[in-house]
Amino acid sequence: MRADTRKAGRTGRDTMGRTDASRVLAIGTVVVLLVYIVAVLFGDMARVDLFGAWLGIVAELAAVAVCVGAVLRTRWSQWQILLGGAAVAVYTAGDLSYLLALDGEESLAAVSLADAAYFVFYPLMLGALAMTLRKLKGVAWPVLLDSLVGALAAASLMTLILAPVLRSGAAGGTPFEVVVAVVYPLLDLLLITAVGGLLTSRGLDLGPRWPLLIAGLILFSAADVAYALGMQDYAVGSIIDVGWIVGVVGIALWIDGVARAGTASRHHDRALPALTTLMASTTAAVAVLIIGCQVPIPLLAQILAALTLLLTAAPLVFRNRMLRILATTDELTGLPNRRGLVADLPRRVGGDRVGALLFMDLDRFKDVNDALGHDVGDALLVQVSERFARQVDAGALFARLGGDEFALFLDGATREEALTAARRLEAALDQPIQVGTASLKVSVSIGIALTPDNGTDVTLLMRKADIAMFRAKSDRSGHHVYSSMDDDGGARKLRTLQELRVALAEAQFEVHYQPKVRLTDDAVSSVEALIRWNHPLLGQLPPASFLPLAEEAGLMPAISALVLEEAVAQVDRWRTEGLVISVAVNLSGSCIQEGLPRQIRLLLEERDIPPECLVLEITEDMLMRNPADAARILARLRAKGIQISIDDFGTGYSSLAYLRDLPADELKLDRSFITAMRTDRRAHGLVGSIVDLAHSLDLRVVAEGVDNEATRAELRALGCDLAQGFHFARPLPAADVAPWIRAHTPAVPEDDTLVAQRI
Ligand code: C2E
Ligand code: CA
Ligand code: CA
Repeated sequence: MRADTRKAGRTGRDTMGRTDASRVLAIGTVVVLLVYIVAVLFGDMARVDLFGAWLGIVAELAAVAVCVGAVLRTRWSQWQILLGGAAVAVYTAGDLSYLLALDGEESLAAVSLADAAYFVFYPLMLGALAMTLRKLKGVAWPVLLDSLVGALAAASLMTLILAPVLRSGAAGGTPFEVVVAVVYPLLDLLLITAVGGLLTSRGLDLGPRWPLLIAGLILFSAADVAYALGMQDYAVGSIIDVGWIVGVVGIALWIDGVARAGTASRHHDRALPALTTLMASTTAAVAVLIIGCQVPIPLLAQILAALTLLLTAAPLVFRNRMLRILATTDELTGLPNRRGLVADLPRRVGGDRVGALLFMDLDRFKDVNDALGHDVGDALLVQVSERFARQVDAGALFARLGGDEFALFLDGATREEALTAARRLEAALDQPIQVGTASLKVSVSIGIALTPDNGTDVTLLMRKADIAMFRAKSDRSGHHVYSSMDDDGGARKLRTLQELRVALAEAQFEVHYQPKVRLTDDAVSSVEALIRWNHPLLGQLPPASFLPLAEEAGLMPAISALVLEEAVAQVDRWRTEGLVISVAVNLSGSCIQEGLPRQIRLLLEERDIPPECLVLEITEDMLMRNPADAARILARLRAKGIQISIDDFGTGYSSLAYLRDLPADELKLDRSFITAMRTDRRAHGLVGSIVDLAHSLDLRVVAEGVDNEATRAELRALGCDLAQGFHFARPLPAADVAPWIRAHTPAVPEDDTLVAQRI
């Protein structure tokens, strides 16, 4: 996994330009709105003020433009913005048609063509709000019910407030007109309560400007109420218009804010306390009923209040269900969590029912979290879960177990089908994942347990899938089907550990040396020490087969001490042979301790070896994990003249800027980079840039894993200093090193001694 920092700059600038334009548009809209408000307030209230009315339309049109900008910026991809924008546009169209149809009158007949547009506004706006609900999956129902209770209570209150209009309906407009005027405030309240319901639900995001939305809707409905109460006296350009227009502009600015925030951000902290809607609704309903006992109020208001109280009980029932759902749902991804998996598995496993349980664990996810932060880690997990979900058939059980672990149960799947599924899941991560400006390449290790073959007990099956997953991880094989051989893993581990202790005591370790070749003239002035284990039964073992266990068991400092001692002794032997050469020793994180500088100083003094002859290779991710302490100790070593090399560079997440502060002399580009270079132009460019940057920081660059001539030539052209790899030499036993160098060094000094210069 690796962070690609290059692309970020460009796309960042693009959106920046657009954001500037949209900001100007939003500010412009607010300015027009203010001018309009001033015009209305200071105009002649008694007269129809057409100038003011047209200014209002301009403000609304600007709001529409803001919405269009938001839609374009999000590339038509967010329903929330599309529907909200459409709502604003439709409403503006309604106002425009109203004003055009006015033809010198103060107001239109209470119901006009414009009303059709006004009505369409509500379903669109409710739709926009409903879109935020989609993210909530299993817990959407209780939220809707909360909103419904709120709406009922609000309707009951409104019926009370609008009672005069209702009662004198016959006196004013036609009953139909009254209905139209009363329905608007009710619809407004439905919107407001929907927003209230959404705000009270956990994990929902109404965007950074949600107060604008609420304020807009409140003003909007206040205007509707005012209109309903004084329908007969309404004239265009009155103060009521301000409510509507400010409301529309508020909604537009909210939409703009949603587009600006993007989809990644979540604002848990903004949620109102749960139960707020319910409490407010109950209070309102009780109040209406009490008033109804004192003075005559419409029957409808009382019925609505009673319904509110009845329905309040329902969310409590739902709330229980929701609590259960929440307890078995992973909050981040909306998938079932471990509890959910354990609860669901028993009905799928047992008897001779066939199926496969897959455990997925992302490789090196911890590094992402450590280096890029938890927000990025979370966003990455969400995207990974979405990609996996796309590979999963409906009906299969797909869960997140926690951290970077997922599980999938495939009912009726045979071994072959399980393997196919595993390969599909792996392929789903082929393309890098974009999180913010970083492009992350992730891979996954998958363990597979089959039922009934590997057992019919849920706990047992999960354990076996887990064991298989660990096998897949340690073998780096991608996926692995459980076999009983894996199971004595624990016992085998113990045996190996025992053997490792014996190996240390009996000196079964041997150090091999791989030359680092200077690309300009093929000269060799240093070698890397690589440990081998001559196992009495298994033969020579590579470090990858035992170092992880040694690290886990705390044997690493002992092993490193051994390699250091052997390498320094070997340098001494070579020096007496006339071969002046430096040696690089790999150090794991656990070896970088306070005592290290002293230990190394004694070692070098004992044999009178100049400190420049020792290079310490530290992996990048180790430095990232403990930067401050490690850097301090390394700086001390470096001050004494010992060279520091950053190993496996490019596999971790250190930013290039961080390099500047590292006490290092050398950068070793990871093998994966060099391999990728041949097929991937971007990798090629990246290697070139890293070489240039390293040089500007006074670091020399070593390419690892160079195994063919073409790569050597390319690296040389890119200005890389040194290269190491099978193309030049495999790691050699100590005795073979001097002969190899003699055979491969172009200009051997006359007296047959090799004096290698430092680079
Ligand atoms: P590393 O430090 O990245 O060492 C380079 C590894 O790449 C060596 O594997 C080397 O044999 C291999 N290699 C070199 N050229 C090529 C090539 O052209 N193609 C391919 N495919 N591989 C190439 P090795 O010796 O198995 O070491 C593996 C890792 O074990 C090392 O990676 C290092 O991290 C660790 N290691 C080895 N010896 C020690 C040690 O004494 N102490 C510590 N702490 N770690 C060690
Ligand atoms: Ca190394
Ligand atoms: Ca390396």
